[in-house]
Amino acid sequence: MQRVVVVGSGDGGTFTANLLASALHDEIHGGLVSVQLVGEHLKHPFQPGNLDVAFKGASPDKYVKDETELIRKEIEFVQDPAAKIDFQAKSVATKGGRTLTYDYLVIATGAVADPSKIPGLAEGSLNFHTGPEDSRRIWEALQTFNGGTVAVAIAGTPHKCPPSPNEAAFMLDEFFRKRGIRDKVTIRFLTPYPRPYPAEKISRVVEPMFQERGIEVSTFFNMDSVDPVDKKVNSLEGEEFQYDLLIAVPPHHGADVIIDSGIGDQDGYVHTDKGTMKVAGQRGVYAIGDATDIPVSKSGVVAHLQSVVVAHNIVAEINGSNDMLEYNGRINCPMEVGQHKAIFVSATYASPPTDQSPSMIKYVMKRSFAMIYWRALNGSLERIFDVFFGQTRFPVKEQVEPQNPVAVKPIEQSARAA
Ligand SMILES: Cc1cc2nc3c(=O)[nH]c(=O)nc-3n(C[C@H](O)[C@H](O)[C@H](O)COP(=O)(O)OP(=O)(O)OC[C@H]3O[C@@H](n4cnc5c(N)ncnc54)[C@H](O)[C@@H]3O)c2cc1C
Repeated sequence: MQRVVVVGSGDGGTFTANLLASALHDEIHGGLVSVQLVGEHLKHPFQPGNLDVAFKGASPDKYVKDETELIRKEIEFVQDPAAKIDFQAKSVATKGGRTLTYDYLVIATGAVADPSKIPGLAEGSLNFHTGPEDSRRIWEALQTFNGGTVAVAIAGTPHKCPPSPNEAAFMLDEFFRKRGIRDKVTIRFLTPYPRPYPAEKISRVVEPMFQERGIEVSTFFNMDSVDPVDKKVNSLEGEEFQYDLLIAVPPHHGADVIIDSGIGDQDGYVHTDKGTMKVAGQRGVYAIGDATDIPVSKSGVVAHLQSVVVAHNIVAEINGSNDMLEYNGRINCPMEVGQHKAIFVSATYASPPTDQSPSMIKYVMKRSFAMIYWRALNGSLERIFDVFFGQTRFPVKEQVEPQNPVAVKPIEQSARAA
């Protein structure tokens, strides 16, 4: 019996488990392979929906489904958070007291937005990165905000969805224009980067739009503390800004289980090969998505594309094949810029983002993803994604010695039949 344990039932973990269950369907039914998915929550959120909850008033329930609706029936869903991952014992201990041993492990525990990391931030700010309920609090605050300064701040990097702070500023601008009080509101964007968007070519697109909409920018602003009583935000550089409403992207770190298990870096991210997604120094252990220390955007698209590589590689290993794949660093993050337009921040490890014009087609594509996300998790849209994203995986040059071979179908054939 080959045991695959996937820890984390978010975007990447759910998709990887589904790909594996599809590819290994016969082996699972034949008792040769098992796939267990360890999750904290029954509810699975579509996290980009937080922006709509915060700035368009969507219901927090709109972008949530039960995990059990999203996974294939070959998968055992263990709704019991992992407490400790032990690489030596090849086991995952759950908070509920179970010990799951594995031959292959996928770490997909994501990243945690944590306002407590900056003094005063939790008390003095609202945010749309800790979940739909907190996002709703922004919408409620906006209903009674009749004028003053709204600061949109990046309080730490890296954070989930690099374009999301810029989107927040654009969406706020649109919101106040619709309410007819834009002239009474100052929107100030506080960023630690030297320009409005970290990638220079994208910043060249964002900057003139910020100017045109009257969104003020303060660069090199590394947030140090927030004074929630006097409503001031301070930077390490010694700057201070007064605000009436502070909407901040909190600092992020890796999941508690990574930190508690001592298997991450100082921020709790897992040291992972940026091509094969193998965890450094471990056999049969992979990490994907926001949980890794790879310097690529923490985004669902990245988790998705890495999942395909990891599922393929695990099936190859189980199959005794050296046919391993590498992810090429493809990112594709949408940024809504108001006026029913959007851009996509697209790049690979080898090619940085290029500048582009905002368009309504990109806006429609961004919006439609909220509808297709749930289907994307079962692998049935892979043909479309392959056309859209182009080639995102390549054969590994270095051959990897397989372990415990069991003959199964290649992932590319079987997953797409799902
Ligand atoms: C406001 C916002 C907007 C975004 N917009 C976009 C966008 O437009 N496009 C895009 O591509 N991405 C976007 N993202 C980012 C995207 O949602 C994440 O990058 C993506 O979900 C990462 O997938 P993941 O599987 O790595 O982590 P997640 O989907 O976060 O899943 C991690 C899972 O691990 C679980 N977990 C943690 N610890 C444990 C434990 N001990 N035991 C068991 N389970 C555990 C968590 O509960 C969670 O279910 C956005 C994010 C936010 C917050």
